[in-house]
Amino acid sequence: MMVKGIIFDIKRYAIHDGPGIRTTIFMKGCPLRCWWCHNPEGISPKPDIMYFSFKCIHCHTCVKACPENAVSFDENEIQHIDREKCTGCGICAELCPTNALRLVGKVVTVDELIREIEKDIKFHDSSDGGVTFSGGEPLFQPEFLEDILKECKKRYIHTTVDTSGYAPTRILEKILSYTDLFLYDLKLFDEKEHIKYTGVPNELIKKNLIFLVEKKANVILRFPVIPGITDTEWNVKGWARFLSELDLSSIQEIDLLPYHDVGEKFNRLGREYKMEVHHAPSDETLKWIKEEFKGLGLKVKIGG
Ligand code: SF4
Ligand code: SF4
Repeated sequence: MMVKGIIFDIKRYAIHDGPGIRTTIFMKGCPLRCWWCHNPEGISPKPDIMYFSFKCIHCHTCVKACPENAVSFDENEIQHIDREKCTGCGICAELCPTNALRLVGKVVTVDELIREIEKDIKFHDSSDGGVTFSGGEPLFQPEFLEDILKECKKRYIHTTVDTSGYAPTRILEKILSYTDLFLYDLKLFDEKEHIKYTGVPNELIKKNLIFLVEKKANVILRFPVIPGITDTEWNVKGWARFLSELDLSSIQEIDLLPYHDVGEKFNRLGREYKMEVHHAPSDETLKWIKEEFKGLGLKVKIGG
């Protein structure tokens, strides 16, 4: 039986997700719950409904149409979607006259997805680009990822996997020979802090990075600079110490990704946004973190 996957977006002409011009495939499902997650629509492995309140004309079509009685409005005309009841059927989004509701998440076959990717081959070829699998967490759909990567390699398409590294090592092992580049996130060095801010421990993430380095996989590290959370001296120096013990010859660079507020996206999905800080990191902060990683002999870039 052909394995199917679930994706929530295809970004064409992407220039920040690996070398050249890329087609970025956003896959649904992630085991992490990072407070600052830029793509919260990728967290759930199922389709989600997003609500754009500024477009709503309060016609209540969605309330009447929902077969699960998952939609309601309170006395202040504020919409509530019961996410436990919602099955992601998308009927409400189809019938909404103003597109105030959007279904995020589409089931696709490997054949369907490779046809979408093939549409961009001439842009990949002219720019030394390719395809990037992002999310969500692409390793969360391991069989589908492996199959689609194989199809890309049959067509000589450059492949990048953008990952948190939180997956069984055997999954990385399986995709290693079909993946030209890994974008690999470093977040909190301390285990307890990692659990607090991402929902999962970091031991496996450290172990998998060591595995990739030992296998000489091409890696670009990514460090989200989150004010008051990842940008502390303790955290940066902890990662720097850890990296200094590795053979960094296969690490092409480290990208510092400055935080920006995505609270609105969380609201649209009915998810709680725990971030208390809403401003980007200062230039001085980015500068000292850059110097710290440069001290390891790494090329450091600000932005993805
Ligand atoms: S997606 Fe389907 S189940 Fe969910 S709120 Fe809309 S109509 Fe109801
Ligand atoms: S159908 Fe659309 S416009 Fe009408 S109440 Fe629902 S979300 Fe608002």
